[in-house]
Amino acid sequence: MKFQDKIEQLLTEQLGEWELARNNYSALKQVKIKTMNVDGHLYKVQFNPGRIISSSAKVDAESIRKRKCFICRENLPPQQKVIPFRDTYNILVNPFPVFSRHFTIAHVEHTPQLIASRFGDMLDLAQQLDGYSVFYNGPKCGASAPDHFHFQAGNKGFMPIENDRNRKHVILIESENKEEILNNFKLIYDSLPLSADEPEPMMNIITWYENKTWTTCLFPRKKHRPDCYFAQGDDNILISPASVDMGGVFVMPMEKDFDKISGKDIAEILEEVVLSDIFLGIRGLD
Ligand SMILES: [Zn+2]
Repeated sequence: MKFQDKIEQLLTEQLGEWELARNNYSALKQVKIKTMNVDGHLYKVQFNPGRIISSSAKVDAESIRKRKCFICRENLPPQQKVIPFRDTYNILVNPFPVFSRHFTIAHVEHTPQLIASRFGDMLDLAQQLDGYSVFYNGPKCGASAPDHFHFQAGNKGFMPIENDRNRKHVILIESENKEEILNNFKLIYDSLPLSADEPEPMMNIITWYENKTWTTCLFPRKKHRPDCYFAQGDDNILISPASVDMGGVFVMPMEKDFDKISGKDIAEILEEVVLSDIFLGIRGLD
């Protein structure tokens, strides 16, 4: 059986035996979606109340220390099953989905969210799961478990960026050659600004594999959450942008925000949290 078929079988089984997951995947079919044009590109906005936990997660060191890690094997709900990928990762059904097929790919050990040595694994996963986009959220770029290394995977055909990847805020790396992607990734990684108190440059990454070619979309970040996240009253929009938002689906856990968010708001939020124009000085990237 193909590896991808195995994880899809896992999803089917889990929906049969795990009520929380079944209810949340079923609710996802009813969620409201609206589309808008932002600077000539399609964006979707999804009203998804199930994502409130992730969007409002406290990810400061103190809060993280105080809570039980929710993707460590020993803390998983009793109904949750896993499928190993190599000896390194466990693949789990994400019980709070944004995609109709949504998985978390958690390291077997409780080890921090740091991409540098694991980007090659991301490419391998994308190749194995070629019906999916695999994504990574940096520790201060939307990951709600910054203390436990993980990727996510969501079915292709949902994020608009897959069909329209030349967007203002993205750095694209495309190649049939894995080494070439790894080398270019390293070049970019080493060129990104790094704050003294951060373990890695801030970024979101989306990767997929198609026609023997990897596409990697890297979004260098300058800010974790936009000002509207903290604003009071009418100016407040609860949005904590991560890879899926960068990929063109803004996930709104609050209905008031879903109703009011405009294309202009989306453009402003992207401008505020994504680093632009940083690569003008780098050579060797086409
Ligand atoms: Zn953990």
